[in-house]
Amino acid sequence: LDYAAATHMDSAVLEAMQPYFTANFYNPSATYLAGRSARQALEAARHQVAQLIGARASEVVFTAGATEANNLAIQGLMRNYPEGDILISAIEHESVLAPTREFKHQEIPVSQQGIVDLAKLEKMIGDKTVLVSVMLVNNELGTIQPLREIAEILNKLSISRQNKGNKFPLYLHTDAAQAPNYLDIHVSRLGVDFMSLNGSKIYGPKQSGTLYVKAAARLRPLISGGGQEFGLRSGTENMAGIAGFAKALEIADTRRRDEVNKIAKLRQSFEELLQKTGLQIVINGANNRRAPHISSVSFAGVDNERLMMELDERGIQCAVGSACSASRKEASHVLSAIGLGEAATHSTLRFSFGRQTTNDDIQKAVHELVQLTDQK
Ligand code: PLP
Repeated sequence: LDYAAATHMDSAVLEAMQPYFTANFYNPSATYLAGRSARQALEAARHQVAQLIGARASEVVFTAGATEANNLAIQGLMRNYPEGDILISAIEHESVLAPTREFKHQEIPVSQQGIVDLAKLEKMIGDKTVLVSVMLVNNELGTIQPLREIAEILNKLSISRQNKGNKFPLYLHTDAAQAPNYLDIHVSRLGVDFMSLNGSKIYGPKQSGTLYVKAAARLRPLISGGGQEFGLRSGTENMAGIAGFAKALEIADTRRRDEVNKIAKLRQSFEELLQKTGLQIVINGANNRRAPHISSVSFAGVDNERLMMELDERGIQCAVGSACSASRKEASHVLSAIGLGEAATHSTLRFSFGRQTTNDDIQKAVHELVQLTDQK
């Protein structure tokens, strides 16, 4: 029950990747026939990804995952505007939080339900704000952020900026890593200028992904060298990873509707069964639109680390916060941002569901949770 941390690779994805490890190992920059054919495969993958997110091929930059994509969007843009500042939501992933700290920045508060406060966001945008970064689906709560509304606020402010002769652009970035299995990720419908995605959450390869960069936006590369990926990400392209990522995104797109239905039912039954046990629990962020695969549950008076370990011994894998914050044993900044106190943040577990989760898994998890928390 930790699909928000990692997903197994789809067999069709593995199949799409395999030729690039062996027969088609050529460098897409080589100019002989085999190299040109590798280039064609690279550009075909780029077109496919572009089509799936409603972008142009020239706006798709392949990266080694969402962390890199987030860093490229934030540092790549902000280094062009040393005077500018950046706003991010208080519940962003570490890979957005950390690069942001290099620049003048502020965090937009979220409601107790884990949704960005739009009125505060609008007030916080200053004359020199260059970038607003708000994730599409939060990785600890599953909450879906109102990107369309945010884009509308930004558009309105951009127009009034132009009228005042303010030369600073105002861009919107979203880290959509947790979204493609369940949500529409068309960039124009979302209204974003930059979007980060990765393969590892969509049954594709780890260290694969993309940054969508709207045509008009100029970024500084973080990795310089041979000039691959429009000069934004030098280094010989990871053809297997790119082909695998494109295939995984295609499958996510085709299966989306079925997947939403199936996973939503599993989560509903998990949460209903848990509620019926009489355990003292709170499901965080539950009164919102949530992506269907995440359930954040606080168990009153329970030590989450210990409970997670005991569940692991019984064959159930779940998460304390996100995988990254768990490895550092810090209280989750996401749970703190929605107003949970120290005790509640340390009694919360994240359960997340995916393609191989069954009803039996759900029942077993609830059964073990009752046994383990009753012992305390
Ligand atoms: N952003 C979000 C919302 C995530 O859930 C993750 C996953 O860990 C990442 C970014 C980092 O992605 P990657 O591991 O591909 O760098």
